[in-house]
Amino acid sequence: MKIDTLCVQAGYEPHNGDPRVTPIVQSTTYAYDSAETLGNLFDLKESGYFYTRLANPTVDAAAKRIAALEGGVGAMLTASGQAASMLSITNICRAGDHVIASSAIYGGTFNLFNKTLRELGIEFSFVEPTITADQLEQHYRDNTRAVFVETLTNPSLDVIDLELFAASAHAHHCPLIVDNTFATPINCRPFEWGADIVVHSTSKYMDGHAVALGGVIVDSGRFDWTSGDYPMLTTPDESYHGVIYTEQFGAAAYITKACTHLMRDMGPQQSPQNAFLLNLGLETLHLRMRRHCDNAMLVARFLEDHEKVAWVNYPGLESNRYYALAQKYMPSGTCGVISVGIKGGKEGAARFMEALQLAKIVIHVADARTCVLHPATTTHRQMDDRQLKEAGISPEMVRLSVGIEDPDDIIADLDQALMKV
Ligand SMILES: *Cc1c(COP(=O)(O)O)cnc(C)c1O
Repeated sequence: MKIDTLCVQAGYEPHNGDPRVTPIVQSTTYAYDSAETLGNLFDLKESGYFYTRLANPTVDAAAKRIAALEGGVGAMLTASGQAASMLSITNICRAGDHVIASSAIYGGTFNLFNKTLRELGIEFSFVEPTITADQLEQHYRDNTRAVFVETLTNPSLDVIDLELFAASAHAHHCPLIVDNTFATPINCRPFEWGADIVVHSTSKYMDGHAVALGGVIVDSGRFDWTSGDYPMLTTPDESYHGVIYTEQFGAAAYITKACTHLMRDMGPQQSPQNAFLLNLGLETLHLRMRRHCDNAMLVARFLEDHEKVAWVNYPGLESNRYYALAQKYMPSGTCGVISVGIKGGKEGAARFMEALQLAKIVIHVADARTCVLHPATTTHRQMDDRQLKEAGISPEMVRLSVGIEDPDDIIADLDQALMKV
């Protein structure tokens, strides 16, 4: 089936007399007739529900839908995008391992890697998103176990050359993990370009209405974990009576380990209520993404010609340095987010934002309503000047998340606010 159909239909198939809409199974636990069945479930000898931290039918339906949209063999929902990024790494890396990450990544991901995971003993090298294959080569070490990038970065809108990073990672027998939050599978499916694992913050376009936090990890099922560098997948897990994930679960080894081992031990499960809301959001993802992109294109063109605007960064504009890469990886559109430099620096940016009426100042991004944010003083305020520069953030930069309202009204609001700068 085509992607628009998958958005609406994938993940849940009702049978005779079942609810047509994926029901919210608001139960932590599930009843069984025999202790033996429950024992088999614990040992992963049978599949079934027994405790919602490990699996829940509503959560599973949304995970299956996203796996179908990305073209993966399986997916695991998490309580937030942060939890998805954390587990995507800790599922295969331990203290002493090393990860190469793009420096142009979401601020929360940067903190997670540079502080928390570093403190847990995992080493990180951050590289420019525009790095060449030869330069990237210099960063691999014997203990490098993964490469992590963002398709379209929040908020600097760098477009990653997925094929370059995938080829480089694979030459070193490492998986490429891609945060695909901003592009969504409607505009880019990283597995088609060689990525091995995809993560999302579902709190953004997937939910689409700013109502439910969530994240997801999707497994392509294509990475070969048996090089010897991933013993957590290829040697017996004593906490599950000696299961060897690659032997018992084959292509789904990575995602099965994440769902059983990491979710069991760390527990950041998505709630059934949030998964229900996510499912509902996914049903219109294809329609909303098209409208977000159409509106953002009109807004970007309007801003590009405005006298109060210093620069516009939107990969859909022909003048953008990533235009060619965006055309290659996201031919039907990038996303609804634009970053724009307002004349008058930080003060100009503040005056513009405060004069807006329809567009509100919020930390969130990528939902139905147009909104703005000043990254340098909010989401990225913990970074020093050098780190800000590496992440592509300047004092006059405003992140504008174009919603799905009528574009004339959005442009009128931006225009009146710009005239007050
Ligand atoms: C928001 C975001 C995250 C973190 O997701 P939460 O759901 O807020 O935890 C990760 N990556 C990207 C690209 C994001 O935009």
